[in-house]
Amino acid sequence: MSTIAFLNIAMHGHVNPTLPVAAELVRRGHSVTYHTSPAFRAEIEAVGATVCLYPGGDQPLPDPPTPVTLMEGLASTAVRLLPSVLIDLRLLQPDLIVHDSACLWGAIAARELEVPAASSFTTFAFNRHVPSPTRGSWDLLAEAATRPDSLKGYLRARRGLRRFDTSGLPLLDLGNIRQPLNLVYTSRVFQPAVEEFDRSYRFVGASIGARPADPSFPADRLRDPVLYASLGTVFNADPRLLRAFATALAPLGGTVVVSTGQTDPAALGPLPPNVLARRSVPQPEVLARASLFVTHGGMNSVNEAMYAGVPMLVVPQGADQPMVARRVAELGAGLSIRTQDVTEDSVRALAGRLLHEPRFRAAAATLRGAQHEAGGYRRAADECERYLRTNAVAGRPAIADPSRRG
Ligand code: UDP
Repeated sequence: MSTIAFLNIAMHGHVNPTLPVAAELVRRGHSVTYHTSPAFRAEIEAVGATVCLYPGGDQPLPDPPTPVTLMEGLASTAVRLLPSVLIDLRLLQPDLIVHDSACLWGAIAARELEVPAASSFTTFAFNRHVPSPTRGSWDLLAEAATRPDSLKGYLRARRGLRRFDTSGLPLLDLGNIRQPLNLVYTSRVFQPAVEEFDRSYRFVGASIGARPADPSFPADRLRDPVLYASLGTVFNADPRLLRAFATALAPLGGTVVVSTGQTDPAALGPLPPNVLARRSVPQPEVLARASLFVTHGGMNSVNEAMYAGVPMLVVPQGADQPMVARRVAELGAGLSIRTQDVTEDSVRALAGRLLHEPRFRAAAATLRGAQHEAGGYRRAADECERYLRTNAVAGRPAIADPSRRG
């Protein structure tokens, strides 16, 4: 049995799909450790992994979350965390490191310690059809020019990283760190231009397993059809937008569930009696009951909705969400609307179409099939084990990148 170390950034969307994979590896007898910050401790311990806390408490999210602030945040966090992460990992002696595709310190630690590494993509895999937000581009340059402090912070952090082995790692594209094994939590059908990816990319589909139960959620109060709206956990949702979803959907639904995320549910004002508004809901369970999902198009939310075969109205808020919205519409599993076009009437009209035109449900059912066939967390665990076996046969260190030191 092996020791497998997960390292991640502090975002629910990046942690959630890894939890069932970690749980499965624990079930198979591996010793699993997980580097995280205190906010994620309980849910990670619940899957049976040993939590290693990063120093310094919870990590703030880049504000606003843009490519340049993200790059500065990732590089400076790497400088801050690496000394203690390396001490931990030298003691743990992992056989495999699984890090998020944006977890720079996980990738550097793997190089420093000469441990095989796998990268975990909770977004699309990136290529020229799906450009990574942090790739070198005119847009990135233009944004950097408007954020001189973030740019300076990024350059300072890059200098701080010179004492570590960063060979083969991207200079700019910190959201797209690849390894000889890249786990992508969507299906091949949903990934645009999937044929352009080599075999290091394994499209394992939505990774959905038991999350800790939320006994405070009144599941017994839900009435069909359940209509669900959420703008995710990162973006500060405008309460007026959430309120428009609630009031638009209320006449169409049995129960309308609204997850308000960072926004206080009270800010939505008085709501129709069949609306249940809470900061957080057990999303996979709600989706399993839902007939429609109004979503910001976060990749996890969309993967989870496809896994449940639920048609979507996508209201992208930023990041990769416009791309995700386009893909959902292109494959016929939903519609999309711009935030500035959201009114009670427009949302009700589109929701009515999604509920009553059978083609949306049919396309969602096709995507559901693809997500289930992809294998999910069990396949991800299989891939990790296969990779471990290959490296064991080859003898450590497993060096896939010819530019590596040593
Ligand atoms: N989520 C949840 N309950 C909620 C809202 C979100 O469990 O009330 C989970 C959801 O299941 C998904 C993640 O939070 O796994 C959101 O990730 P996504 O990539 O969709 O969006 P982000 O929050 O990163 O913008």
